[in-house]
Amino acid sequence: MMPIAENIAAIREKMSAAALAAGRDPGEILLVGASKMNDAAACKAAVAAGIDALGENRVQEMTAKLAEDAYTGAPLHFIGHLQRNKVKQVVGKVDLIQSVGSLELLAEIEKTAAKLGIVQNILLEVNVGMEEAKSGFAPQDMEEAAKAALECPHVHVQGLMTIPPADASPEENRAYFHKVRALYVDINAKLFHNNFKYLSMGMSGDYEDAIACGATMVRVGSAIFGARHYT
Ligand SMILES: *Cc1c(COP(=O)(O)O)cnc(C)c1O
Repeated sequence: MMPIAENIAAIREKMSAAALAAGRDPGEILLVGASKMNDAAACKAAVAAGIDALGENRVQEMTAKLAEDAYTGAPLHFIGHLQRNKVKQVVGKVDLIQSVGSLELLAEIEKTAAKLGIVQNILLEVNVGMEEAKSGFAPQDMEEAAKAALECPHVHVQGLMTIPPADASPEENRAYFHKVRALYVDINAKLFHNNFKYLSMGMSGDYEDAIACGATMVRVGSAIFGARHYT
């Protein structure tokens, strides 16, 4: 097996074990490959190995890899910070925008999807650690954000996404996951008739904890593709 396929198989095993330990059905948890800084060949290897979706962070990189058919055969998600002036390059090009973290971005996505005559699937991003430098809605603003999204006929909210603070201890990290799961359950019942599909949380270092805390989608990069080399 190729390393990418081996890594995916090993992660799937750990995901299953974490799900079973939590009394959950392993089949209800999706593995998204966070493929930033990895080339089209790596993306294609992940698709061939049965990844459930691929997620990209940077619009320019995604556009270039789309032209190389990097994602054919798997759904494509946008998972990074999305600037309003780049929304046109993403709406309609991806199956899910996971990282909608401001009312301004939500409005821009609605406007763009309306022009295209489509409905864009999104997740609302929770800034659970209330970090200055991070995008996402503060937990206390989530309900208002969800209500605003319900007013957008060309946007379909399918759940929530979060990235806890990078410096959190494992215990703090699990507390953040629990908090977002509680928000998810609450908003889903109050405003979405329990039709939410995705609670996206957990990365290479903490996806098993995220599954224990209720994640239905994990976003894993380096554990699949190897360490990223920033230059
Ligand atoms: C890069 C990235 C991931 C994956 O990070 P790893 O630690 O490499 O698994 C997950 N989510 C988002 C939003 C990312 O940008």
